[in-house]
This record gives sequence, structure tokens and C-alpha cells, in this order.
Amino acid sequence: MDAKPAAQAAASSQSPSAYFREEHEMLRAQLRRFVETEIKPHAGAWEEQGFVPRDVLRRMGELGFLGIRYPEEFGGSNLDTLGSVVLAEELGRSTFGGFAITVLVHTDMASVHIANGGSPDQRARYMPDIVAGRKITAVAVTEPDAGSDVKAIRTTARRDRDGYVINGPKMFITNGVHADLVCVAAKTAADARPSQSISMFVVEKGTPGFKISRALDKHGWRSSDTAELVFEDCRVPAQNLLGKEGRGFYAIMSNFRNERIVLGAMAMGEAQAALELTLDYVTTRKAFGATLYDKQAVRQRLAMLATRVEAGRQLVHHAAWLDAQGIECTREVAMVKAYCGELVNEVMYDCVQFHGGMGYMRESTIERMARDARVQSIGGGATEVMLEEVAKRLRR
Ligand SMILES: Cc1cc2nc3c(=O)[nH]c(=O)nc-3n(C[C@H](O)[C@H](O)[C@H](O)COP(=O)(O)OP(=O)(O)OC[C@H]3O[C@@H](n4cnc5c(N)ncnc54)[C@H](O)[C@@H]3O)c2cc1C
Repeated sequence: MDAKPAAQAAASSQSPSAYFREEHEMLRAQLRRFVETEIKPHAGAWEEQGFVPRDVLRRMGELGFLGIRYPEEFGGSNLDTLGSVVLAEELGRSTFGGFAITVLVHTDMASVHIANGGSPDQRARYMPDIVAGRKITAVAVTEPDAGSDVKAIRTTARRDRDGYVINGPKMFITNGVHADLVCVAAKTAADARPSQSISMFVVEKGTPGFKISRALDKHGWRSSDTAELVFEDCRVPAQNLLGKEGRGFYAIMSNFRNERIVLGAMAMGEAQAALELTLDYVTTRKAFGATLYDKQAVRQRLAMLATRVEAGRQLVHHAAWLDAQGIECTREVAMVKAYCGELVNEVMYDCVQFHGGMGYMRESTIERMARDARVQSIGGGATEVMLEEVAKRLRR
């Protein structure tokens, strides 16, 4: 790769960021090209069919996009948290949230349980296929009666001879229908303190007792497959336990840090793309003898939103940098998730407004983007839950 396209990408409407190095900018340029040529022309059809085709994920694996954070021995490129931010921003900019989340759940929310919690044997067994896109992953924590409150999950994994038997339902699982490997949270010790009662397991597709109850029909993210799963006397060998028994809650919380930075980055990528396409629209659309951009009310609203998106973006970069340095950043990450999840929705609301009637039509990109953005203040840590995390850390 030469560095020229990277410089071009950096010189687009985005402000330069002090946190990125040359390898991040090269990755950004490569991703931007890939999204323009191999995603945008086809992703409308994936919205209709309800999932991203496997050969697209394989192609992303071949190009190295699924192993950005993982060691070279597994085919990865060993970048830091800012590498995930670049991936999430660029996929967010694609304007297809369903495609973006399909990939990001695999790279940064599900496979991390194997990469971070797996034994050397588990990593050797699964990681090369994960990085190559030969095996796609999902993570199943949420249940019909437990979402924000992770400790309240009721799925159990009972120790039985040389393995565990898993029982219980899982809800809203991204990649749930098509994933080959599902990282499942289950209670292994009903009597222990809630934070010490959860363990993580890797369950392979096709394991007897593991069923997809139904594919869920969603408001947005329509090219992302989302499922309700059920485990009924699903027996897995003891070597499918990820990490230590009873340490699952801590693994989930630790991986949430990365997940929330990535969701914030994705939201800011979406917000930027929405502002850019709205700017195109209002500078050409005429009303009352001039373009919409000639109205001070319109251009000032867009200018303020652009300012806030820039602030959100820099907060994401800062949190990612803290994380990459190993500096405690739970407060900053919760701020990212709360701020960016709300902001992307405010951006979409105004962008639809300035598209007028066309913004309400299914054929317009902004209509899809507004639907896709709605979940950003709910999934992966609802705004109110994130603000509680911030509030706990305001008083020193
Ligand atoms: C499209 C989609 C994909 C998802 N993918 C996955 C996945 O791959 N894996 C997975 O495990 N989960 C997944 N989820 C689940 C997601 O993380 C949860 O929906 C989210 O954590 C909220 O949980 P809940 O839906 O049970 O809402 P609840 O916990 O019931 O909360 C409902 C609402 O109550 C409010 N609230 C909650 N707690 C508080 C509080 N303490 N103070 C004030 N207000 C509060 C918030 O506004 C919240 O939105 C997905 C969800 C969606 C919609």
C-alpha cells in the first residue's frame, strides 16, 4: 500500500486527529475504497434479504479487515484500539448500519471472548478461521428478562461429568442465525454472588440442544441478522469454557469497554456520512429563490451538529487512546456510548428534516440511516445505564 490514498482520506471532511499513526490512515484509505466499490453498490439487496452474504465476510477476511486487532500468528495485523475505531468509523460511513454491525459484532464484540478469554488451544483452534472469515461469531448475553442488568441472566450451565449442560433462552442476538460460533453467558453457580456466578462458553453451530428459535424482524439494521436462541440440555465439553469458571461477568464488562468505543465510533461515522449527504442535498435543493443552505437557520443547525460530531469523534479517539495505553477509562467509555448514541439520533432527526418529504421516503438513504441509528442509544448499554456509570465516577 502506498501512503497517498491515506493522506487523501485524512484530508476529506474530517479534521485530522492527533491519535492516528500512518498505519491507521492507510487502513482507513483501504477500507474507504472497499466500502465504496464492494459494499455500497450491493448492500441495498442485503437489506432486503436480511443478512450479509458469507462471501462478503470471507472477502473482508482475505483483505485483513477481520483481524485488525489480532496477532500475526493468526493472520491478524495486531493494531491497537484505534485500529478498531478506524474500522467502525469507516463501516459506519457506509450508510448501511446493518452491514456495519454484522462485521463489528464479529470482530470486536464476539470473537474478543475467544481472543481474550480463550486458552492457547482454543485460540489456535478458532482464531485463524475467525480472522479469515471462515467462521463467523456471535455473543449471547441478553435474555428475554435480562438486558441492561447482565447479572440477572438465568441461563444455566450445569457441570456434568466431563462437560456442561446449558439451558435457557437468549434474545436479540446479532449474527444469531448465521454464526458458526456463539459465545454464551450462563450461570455456573446459582448460590455465588451474582458477579461471580457467570461463565462464558463457546458453542458451535449444530451442537445438539442449541436451536435458533426465530429470526427477529427489526425497525432498522435490516441487513443484520438478529435471532432469539434457545439452549435445551445443550451439552458442551469442559474445554468449551472460556476463561475461568465464575469469571464471565468480568470478561463481559471488560469486553464491553472495546464494544462501546466501537459503537461510539460507528455512530460518529454514520453521523458524518449523514451530514455530508445532507450538505449535498441542501446546497442543491432550492426553495424561496435560493438553496436551502442559503437559509441561515439551516446552515447554522448543520454547523452546530458538525461541531458536536467533531467533539464526539475526538472523545471516541481519546477513549480509544486511553484504552490502548492500558489507562483505566470506564468513565470516558461510558461518556462515549451515552454521548454518541444520543447525538447520532439528533443528527438523523435534523438530516431527515432538511431532506423534506424525500427524507421520509424509503428510497432515500437518510431514511434508512435514521432507522438504523435508533438502536444506538439502546443496544450495548442504554444511555441511562451509561450515565449511571458516569455519575458513579463524577464524585472522586
Ligand atoms: C438490534 C439489537 C441487537 C442486539 N445484539 C445483541 C447481541 O448480539 N448480543 C447480546 O447479548 N445482546 C444484544 N442486544 C441486546 C442489547 O444489548 C439490549 O437490548 C440492551 O442492553 C438493553 O437491554 P433490554 O432490551 O433488555 O432493555 P432493558 O434492560 O429492559 O431496559 C429498557 C430501557 O429502560 C431504561 N433503563 C434500563 N436500565 C436503566 C437504569 N438503570 N436507569 C434508568 N433507565 C434504565 C433504558 O432506557 C432502556 O433502554 C441487541 C439488541 C438489539 C435491539
